[in-house]
Amino acid sequence: MRPAGELERHGNMSGVRPGTEGMVLEGTEAEELRNKLETISRELRRDIVRMIGLAGSGHPGGSLSCVEILACLYFYKMRHRPGEPDWPLRDRFVLSKGHAAPALYAVLARCGYFDREELWRLRRLGSMLQGHPDRLRTPGVEISTGSLGQGLSAACGMALGLRMDGIPSRVYALIGDGESQEGGIWEAAMLAAHQRLGNLTAILDNNGMQIDGRCCEVVSLGDLPAKWRSFGWEVQEVDGHDVLEICEALDRADAARGPGIVIAHTVKGKGVSFMENNVDFHGKAPTREEMERALEELGEEA
Ligand SMILES: [Mg+2]
Repeated sequence: MRPAGELERHGNMSGVRPGTEGMVLEGTEAEELRNKLETISRELRRDIVRMIGLAGSGHPGGSLSCVEILACLYFYKMRHRPGEPDWPLRDRFVLSKGHAAPALYAVLARCGYFDREELWRLRRLGSMLQGHPDRLRTPGVEISTGSLGQGLSAACGMALGLRMDGIPSRVYALIGDGESQEGGIWEAAMLAAHQRLGNLTAILDNNGMQIDGRCCEVVSLGDLPAKWRSFGWEVQEVDGHDVLEICEALDRADAARGPGIVIAHTVKGKGVSFMENNVDFHGKAPTREEMERALEELGEEA
């Protein structure tokens, strides 16, 4: 664990110190933290729905399922400087499930990496926000992703490189469950355990669905916690929409001697009634009418 306050953090609540392994978040400060992260999550969901609706294309389902995970990382856990995206001591985030780019863009804009107005130019020709993350175009994007199964390997390389350079930063990689059918995920899992990458935490957005339907009907993933344990990883499971559970798991992961994974049980399309657990919205934009209905559900005043 690094001493609290040693390095700059962005957005964490005063008095609540991330990096305190095993600490249970409770009391008034915990409730303030919960309120803050839930409020941010609602705003992120509205931005995701609006940007995909305006673009007329994109992936709402898997973007909406990982909102709380990203809110907890960027507004609680990670050390980063939105005004200095290349700060050498920053924690790194890899969106291995790159098609959830709208969720990443929404949180980066909310942090101040770029102007929120950019969100409404998603997927436009020449826009800094393309359909999948592009590190050369978008401030705050560490690596271009979207070819599934590759991001975790890249995260392993980052974690290893940071350790070799003596930089005390952590690497977080968000992977999908459909993506976990890729062989590359398990090659990276082997390597990370072999190298004892204690500075690497993967988070699995376990929403149970992928582009062609339910994961268990496409290619069963089996007992994921047992599989990750057998690969030598420390495994935690959380409700992926409970912000305090996520924060506590991320804190506990700091103490891992090797790589750790947080298996986050989530709902695809979370927050919009007609998108929840609806595989149609894996990669389909809402119509204008659906967008307005979704925004209303998400609490946007007309
Ligand atoms: Mg999925």
